[in-house]
Amino acid sequence: MNVDDATKELTDLSLEPAPSYDAPVYDQSGEDLVEHGAENGSGMQDAHFSYRESKQLFDSGSKQIAVDDRLAPSSIMDQPTSMQREEKKEPGRQESYKMRSLPDSAAQQFTDVPSPELVGLYKNVAECRNLRAKYQGLSMQRSDQNPKNKPGWVIYPHPPKPTYDAATKTVVKVENKPDSEVFDLSQCDIPGEDSEWDFGINEDDSYAVHRAGALDQVIADIPSLRDYYLDLDKLVSISSDGPAKSFAFRRLQYLEARWNLYYLLNEYQETSVSKRNPHRDFYNVRKVDTHVHHSACMNQKHLLRFIKHKLKHCSDEKVIFRDDQVLTLNEVFKSLNLSGYDLSIDTLDMHAHKDTFHRFDKFNLKYNPIGESRLREIFLKTDNYIKGSYLAQITKQVISDLENSKYQNCEYRISVYGRSIDEWDKLANWVIDNKIFSHNVRWLVQIPRLYDIYKKTGTVNTFQDIITNLFKPLFEVTKNPQSHPKLHVFLQRVIGFDSVDDESKVDRRFHRKYPKPSLWEAPQNPPYSYYLYYLYSNLAALNQWRAKRGFNTLVLRPHCGEAGDPEHLVSAYLLAQSISHGILLRKVPFVQYLYYLDQIGIAMSPLSNNALFLTYDKNPFPRYFKRGLNVSLSTDDPLQFSYTREPLIEEYSVAAQIYKLSNVDMCELAKNSVLQSGWEASIKAHWIGKNFEDDGVEGNDVGRTNVPNIRVNYRWDTLSTELDLVNHFATFKGTENGCQA
Ligand SMILES: [Zn+2]
Repeated sequence: MNVDDATKELTDLSLEPAPSYDAPVYDQSGEDLVEHGAENGSGMQDAHFSYRESKQLFDSGSKQIAVDDRLAPSSIMDQPTSMQREEKKEPGRQESYKMRSLPDSAAQQFTDVPSPELVGLYKNVAECRNLRAKYQGLSMQRSDQNPKNKPGWVIYPHPPKPTYDAATKTVVKVENKPDSEVFDLSQCDIPGEDSEWDFGINEDDSYAVHRAGALDQVIADIPSLRDYYLDLDKLVSISSDGPAKSFAFRRLQYLEARWNLYYLLNEYQETSVSKRNPHRDFYNVRKVDTHVHHSACMNQKHLLRFIKHKLKHCSDEKVIFRDDQVLTLNEVFKSLNLSGYDLSIDTLDMHAHKDTFHRFDKFNLKYNPIGESRLREIFLKTDNYIKGSYLAQITKQVISDLENSKYQNCEYRISVYGRSIDEWDKLANWVIDNKIFSHNVRWLVQIPRLYDIYKKTGTVNTFQDIITNLFKPLFEVTKNPQSHPKLHVFLQRVIGFDSVDDESKVDRRFHRKYPKPSLWEAPQNPPYSYYLYYLYSNLAALNQWRAKRGFNTLVLRPHCGEAGDPEHLVSAYLLAQSISHGILLRKVPFVQYLYYLDQIGIAMSPLSNNALFLTYDKNPFPRYFKRGLNVSLSTDDPLQFSYTREPLIEEYSVAAQIYKLSNVDMCELAKNSVLQSGWEASIKAHWIGKNFEDDGVEGNDVGRTNVPNIRVNYRWDTLSTELDLVNHFATFKGTENGCQA
């Protein structure tokens, strides 16, 4: 089978539901790897207990046992005895799951004498991984490099006090006030100027941090634009090499087959563990919406009610400056020939379901209520005539819903465009003055890739203008927080940067070598890889400085692999901490394998994809999940895609029904979302267990995550086997006659 066929098969099979009951899994020779008979369907039934069985469970005190499944009672839930014997062979590994005779340690695979080709392939894998590690480390994007994850980091306002005392197992009465009521700017500590370090512009037109008075003593050696393109070219050529693609494809198929086997043999055990886990279920495990655009964070019904309310009670408020005059809300609606009574979800017309497929331009227009950009400006912008007060009010309503639901949290994307130098301060003022603070919310700043538009309208001359507008205020506030005190406080709640726009636009390579930003005067937009580099290089210098000062560092989490050139995924592999979408990984097996090995977070939104780029049934999400990629579910734009008050639950619920996810799967996804998110380590510890940073079962607290240890152990074993293989073969010494250990 050639690789194209292989990729085709990859997409063709993507409808296959999560457990392997429906279709056989084929290896590349077309033979059955795993036989699934109809009898397997009955395995599903076994997981449901009759009243009598439940009673027996209860009588044997299983509630206590539930937390520790090593001590599970044997009468009802045990697998056939042959498997028990296998388990007993390894007394040290009590969390072991059942895999029959599949090699479950890498050691068994080391005995083969590898071919030089195989060693070469693994060496390439290791080289790619080392490059990523270098880029990530230099930009301080690893979570252990971020000061906010270290003990002693103070979060103001303080997180709400727990309402449950685990020691006494009682609910305690605590009074938690919302952050917006508690927050007081005068209580924030604003440090003074750093006289040791200063910043300037380097040869690539990136900001660089150097010792004050000594330009040559830079804070870190950030890879130059040239280095980056060389590394990128290297990675692209490695990942498009035929044998590498076949190799990665086989590894991914193996991972999927291994999952299917695991699931077949352990589903029953998993379900029984989660049933015995007291109190915890899918609804009360913490989950984070890892990718939401703030201006689309409310659902349509909510926005509609809000508009109607304003029209009824504040129709004389001056809201917008248009055509040389200031208009009241009433006048705006008069000019649109509309009354409050006319408004309905249908006239609002913001749902994107049918007419936006492969039309990102049309999708962008869906942000305009009733197709009117002036309504978008009034209701959905932070920087407008009313200083974003309407958006602030509706945001607070959404946040209050989130706080009431307690277990749902959101990472909102909010725009900074790079059109003018005061955007950051205006945004920070909006957040601080309106006290939009919540324990359930953190921010990412999204940078739209719109240089060509600003250039056309004369807002900017060169790409450098955008870089200056985006980053100069950040370096100023890092040097001296007192220069922009509100921005300093706002940045404590910012996780990082996102890069957004239509990826399906073509990146035309009109230069053999790209000019640096101050020379970029052409009307064409720079390509995705170029945008990403300049976000990265400036961020890297900024982070080095921020970490030195003990300020939180920022990560890069761009939209990537939603459409367009799969090469974007290679750029992001080097530069980004994690990504949103990633559906195009299905076309580049080698890159997908790298994303697996490095467990790069992928915030996926199948409902959004369904409206824009890929129908729900073809979405690779269930496949990625089975293979063990680090995926989470997110809503993208509730305003355009959701129908209910709980968009995140809607997203999980549709996925669960179409892809047949079990409760354990959903809890694992929720756990992934917390791990991917940018909340401070102390909060994550409260949410998913104090040792959450440890590998495998050590890091799992089933009482909080509701993910059984056998699942965690399976994922960890599988990953470490793959990593062991890479390390083993990549350091293999070859001889003239072949390879030798
Ligand atoms: Zn998005």
